[in-house]
Amino acid sequence: MTIPRFELHVPTSVAEASELLRRYPGEAVPYAGGTELLQTMKLGLASFEHLVDVKRIPALAGIAVQPGGWLRIGATTTHREIERSALVGERLPALRLLERQVANVRVRNTGTLGGNLCFAEPHSDPAAFLLAAGARVRLGSAEGERELDVDAFIAGPLFTDRAPDELLLDVRVPPARPGRGHGFAKLAFFERPAASVACRIDVAEGAIADARVAVASACESPVLLERVGQTLVGARGADLDDALGAAVEAARHDVETFDDVNGSADYKRHLVGLLLRAAATSAYEEATRA
Ligand SMILES: Cc1cc2nc3c(=O)[nH]c(=O)nc-3n(C[C@H](O)[C@H](O)[C@H](O)COP(=O)(O)OP(=O)(O)OC[C@H]3O[C@@H](n4cnc5c(N)ncnc54)[C@H](O)[C@@H]3O)c2cc1C
Repeated sequence: MTIPRFELHVPTSVAEASELLRRYPGEAVPYAGGTELLQTMKLGLASFEHLVDVKRIPALAGIAVQPGGWLRIGATTTHREIERSALVGERLPALRLLERQVANVRVRNTGTLGGNLCFAEPHSDPAAFLLAAGARVRLGSAEGERELDVDAFIAGPLFTDRAPDELLLDVRVPPARPGRGHGFAKLAFFERPAASVACRIDVAEGAIADARVAVASACESPVLLERVGQTLVGARGADLDDALGAAVEAARHDVETFDDVNGSADYKRHLVGLLLRAAATSAYEEATRA
């Protein structure tokens, strides 16, 4: 397997990168860690004559807390940087835990959050987490910027709402606050996960006031299961186990799984239920921790 010849461009601004992508329509593509892109080129599944390296663009880098408490993670931040970030550990411990379980250390060292989301692969753990967290993405081009929910950005298997000349700039996660917790659980037999579930729970006056549940890997594209989150609303203390049982049933009903090397569609539905119980329990514990 060899990669066909290509020209590498190294822009230092969003406008410059966007103009390069426009100059070579259909022949140019953004390039970050290359863990997905170069593999697809090697396998002959895609071919590009111009790779636009986005890693030297300052606007796509870094992790910081924004005014209002939103956590901004730049698109070129690697999985390893997120895993090692004290800020992420303090604000979103479940995300740090998730990142520690992505792929292997070699992929985590080069693969970026932006590349993971833009490739829109079904097996995206961060996508499940960000859907449940209610995160937003910011896109930029020579024309300007726009912001949208992760839910709207992930448009289907290997498909996002991104124009060819746009770059993913960053991801913004809503503020951590008292009474809010996140949880994540996954199971992997091979390199890519068989199923993963993420959950965000908000507790107010002792009861669950809001819950969001998202699933990846078991279905064709990471998905937010809105009805499932709602089955948890109102649960408190002793009711929690019953509410979790109802949520598990709802998730097994609503998720559209498929057969593959990881198991049958039925087996995946079973897994989603187990993982949901684990993720929601972690989220609830974090939300109710003093
Ligand atoms: C062996 C293996 C195991 C894996 N296991 C897991 C796992 O357990 N969980 C999981 O979630 N993921 C897993 N992955 C996926 C991994 O997370 C991604 O490969 C990685 O994050 C992609 O990032 P990258 O920077 O290498 O993207 P690249 O390969 O550089 O790019 C991927 C795609 O995104 C586009 N792109 C990249 N950056 C931008 C940008 N800023 N704006 C616009 N478009 C952009 C590129 O044009 C390309 O289409 C695995 C991958 C491998 C190879």
